[in-house]
Amino acid sequence: MNVKTTSSAIGKIQKAQPLFWANPGWKPVSECLDTLDLKYKDIVDAEQRLMRFAPLLKKCFPELNERDGIIESELIHCPGLAAKIAEDDGLDGLSNVYVKADHALPVAGSIKARGGIYAVLHFAEKVAIESGLMEEKFDYSQLLEPKFRKLFGEYELSVGSTGNLGLSIGIMGSALGFRVSVHMSIEAKEWKKERLRQRGVNVVEHAFDYTAACVEARRIADANPKIHFIDDENSVELFLGYSVALLRMKKQFAEAGIKVDAEHPVFLYLPCGVGGAPGGITFAARHAFGDSAHCIFIEPVQAPCMTVGLITGKHSDSNIYDFGLTLKTDADGLAVSCPSRFVGKLMEPLLSACITLTDSDMYRYLLAMYETEGMEVEPSSSSACGGPKMLYRTDEGIGFLKNHGLPFNPASATHVIWTTGGLFVPPEQHKAYRDKARNACA
Ligand SMILES: *Cc1c(COP(=O)(O)O)cnc(C)c1O
Repeated sequence: MNVKTTSSAIGKIQKAQPLFWANPGWKPVSECLDTLDLKYKDIVDAEQRLMRFAPLLKKCFPELNERDGIIESELIHCPGLAAKIAEDDGLDGLSNVYVKADHALPVAGSIKARGGIYAVLHFAEKVAIESGLMEEKFDYSQLLEPKFRKLFGEYELSVGSTGNLGLSIGIMGSALGFRVSVHMSIEAKEWKKERLRQRGVNVVEHAFDYTAACVEARRIADANPKIHFIDDENSVELFLGYSVALLRMKKQFAEAGIKVDAEHPVFLYLPCGVGGAPGGITFAARHAFGDSAHCIFIEPVQAPCMTVGLITGKHSDSNIYDFGLTLKTDADGLAVSCPSRFVGKLMEPLLSACITLTDSDMYRYLLAMYETEGMEVEPSSSSACGGPKMLYRTDEGIGFLKNHGLPFNPASATHVIWTTGGLFVPPEQHKAYRDKARNACA
């Protein structure tokens, strides 16, 4: 690794300055996909499991009726937002901007409606199979019958969360009859806890950060075989649940007539916490679009845990406090001090770059999304809008484009802003976000 680039990146991290870091470990798909422990067939397997569960999901959640039990979001063309970002960030030609609207995913209201719900279903299927109660030609909506509810009720699902993961596990777990305990980190918003308590979920409040909340949850689960700990830092199920999005997005691209090839790359801007969600997407995007898809992780300047893990190569043995950072950010979904090693290792050859941005930029974009497209998102989501500026307007970003032989004009590429949460945020909280944004921008 280039020593000078690394020390300059670390300097910016320590000073909490926005950063574009090009991943020197990036490899073409021809050189890396076969070497990974997870394969394309694992994504397909996850998709098929979700298809099996679709009739059950439809019964549990009426909002899935029109989608036949499939939890999916729209790919929305956003010329208004593109024009606003182009103007404010000085990006002539930026026009092909799409929002992948996971902020509006039904059932859980965030991107966790993919990974979190999938992880619960995967476990429920395993318990059901092992019970011997599943007959041949089984319709999965039968899992809602009393004998299975009773079976699931013998188990407790446990999870550490900054808020949204807990919501998804709590909603799905309680719908099936599992007992659920959610260990909330100090960042978790009160309304998320309240929503869970209303569903009978045991909310355990911790006065420390996400990583520490997970340690505590894991400790309790290890001592009890009836507690299943859903381990966000190491879960293959969460990762694969997220990855399924790309199988579906490939179709959305085709329907929208979006061309993806070497001359027309696609940039995916992905908000990153512990790494599972953006990691699963990146893994599947490289399978779906090969070397024409460039995945870029977005983190707050005060919580760049994945960036730090990748730069140092230390992954979960690194943390942001060692760099003098505080973890203080209003992007609660991204407030993670220590990254997933499992995801970080997988990302080494797959990921194109990491960027960081300030909370004030996040708020600026949050307001822009509302004013141009009427979208109400969490600050974690709007952070993804910061991608193009760091890519095209920093020396490191331009160097990255040069090294990859990519066009310098933003008009030649498709830009996907992957929003991650927002639907369940109470209206008064959305308003408070906007008020804060307006004050910060004034
Ligand atoms: C969980 C979450 C993310 C990031 O996902 P990780 O798997 O933690 O990297 C981003 N935004 C929101 C709103 C989230 O809830």
